[in-house]
Amino acid sequence: MSNEFEMAFAGGPFDHDETNRSPEAVQKAVKNPKARALLLHKGNPAIRPDGNLVKIKPIDLIGKNIFDPGPIYLGVDNGAPLFAASMADESDAMGGEFANMRLAAGQMSLPDLAVAGRARALLDWHFNHQFCAKCGKKSDAREGGLKRLCTFCHTEHFPRVNPVVIMLVIHGDKCLLGRGAGWPDNAYSCLAGFVSPGETIEEACKREVWEETGVMTTGHRYIMSQPWPFPAQLMMGMICQAEGTNLNINTKEIEAANWYTREQVAAVYNKTGDAFARLPRFTIAHHLLKYWIEN
Ligand SMILES: [Zn+2]
Repeated sequence: MSNEFEMAFAGGPFDHDETNRSPEAVQKAVKNPKARALLLHKGNPAIRPDGNLVKIKPIDLIGKNIFDPGPIYLGVDNGAPLFAASMADESDAMGGEFANMRLAAGQMSLPDLAVAGRARALLDWHFNHQFCAKCGKKSDAREGGLKRLCTFCHTEHFPRVNPVVIMLVIHGDKCLLGRGAGWPDNAYSCLAGFVSPGETIEEACKREVWEETGVMTTGHRYIMSQPWPFPAQLMMGMICQAEGTNLNINTKEIEAANWYTREQVAAVYNKTGDAFARLPRFTIAHHLLKYWIEN
């Protein structure tokens, strides 16, 4: 891609400020007059009527009902420290409304997706990892929410990012797209799957394509990646070559898969064809297909 920040949920110019997180540094950031906080409820951000994120002063969180661990420090947004809090009450959207982020993503700006995605991934991790996985005692957030520490057995716990391969399988002038059960009508996308312990991303790509469609592949090549905060995947976009076009669909994994010509894919992108439903711009699959038809 010409500009990496075309990718939704990627950090872009947002500074995560991960080396400046002593208790004193985080306190100083909270007290900065420019500091602001995002509000989320069940992972969904508060959005103002004009479509931008609600950003309040951290002091206005006092007295509100906030889930563990309280406000977390996301980083520095255009010179202003930015925090995020998981609100317990849906009525606490403070001048906005909590919007389903997956549905709202298509209308949100890239800078807003960068910070809301990071907030969602981190707050979701805290919510689901309040207890030490080693000894079972309650752990505490540290470094503004970048890790948790069990003060009983002294184990540190770090936010999880789960690696997923997503791949465009090519055969000559055709590419292979599949769909899951229950997807919207005519929705097709790149095949994808979690990387398993003990395999490279190339091996994961080869295994997933074989398991889902019975197609053998070679030439697995990394193209681009995307953080995907539903809840915390790192999508690693690959392209690979199919050895043949015969399909043996594993319906336990996917509902269907079809080969589409470059012409059909280009027509979907130019809005002159409807061989399958156009993928939302905030998905890496959209960018992988665009990369293929443009290169
Ligand atoms: Zn412990």
